[in-house]
Amino acid sequence: MLLATHSLVGAFIGKEIGYPPLAFLLGIISHMLLDAIPHADGPDDKPDQKESDPISFDQYALVAVDIAMGLVVFIYLGSKGELSTSAIWGAIGSILPDALDNVPFYSGKLRSIFSPLKLFHQFHARIQRIKLSMIAGLAVQYAIALIFFILMILL
Ligand SMILES: [Zn+2]
Repeated sequence: MLLATHSLVGAFIGKEIGYPPLAFLLGIISHMLLDAIPHADGPDDKPDQKESDPISFDQYALVAVDIAMGLVVFIYLGSKGELSTSAIWGAIGSILPDALDNVPFYSGKLRSIFSPLKLFHQFHARIQRIKLSMIAGLAVQYAIALIFFILMILL
C-alpha cells in the first residue's frame, strides 16, 4: 500500500498506544495486515508485473504525490497537536517495511548484502498477490487513509 495510508494507520495506532517501542512494533505489524488487503499501488502494480520491469513515469508521479500528500497531512496533524512521539514511532514502523523493501534505488542491493531481507521480500510480495484494478485499488487505500485521518483528529 501507499505510504500515506500506512503512515496514517501507524500514527493512529501509536497515538492510541502511547508507548513508542510498542507503537513501532505494531506499526510494522499494521503494514503487513494492510498489505494483505487487496489493493493496487498504481499503474505499474499489476499481477504480471516483474521487478525487473522498468518503472513508468506515471508510477513515479503517483508515488511523489503520495509522499507529498502524506507530508502535508502530517504537518497538519502536527500543527493540531495530534502527533505524539508514540504516534511518530507508529508511523515510522508502518513505513519501515516499504522503506527497506520497495525502494528501487537500493532495496535490491540491501537484499544482496543482508539475506534475511530476501526472505522478507518473498513474504512481502506474497501477501500482496491479490491485485485490484488501479482505480479500485487506490480507492480502497484512500478510503482507509481518510478513515484513519478522521480517527486521528477525533480520538
Ligand atoms: Zn508493503
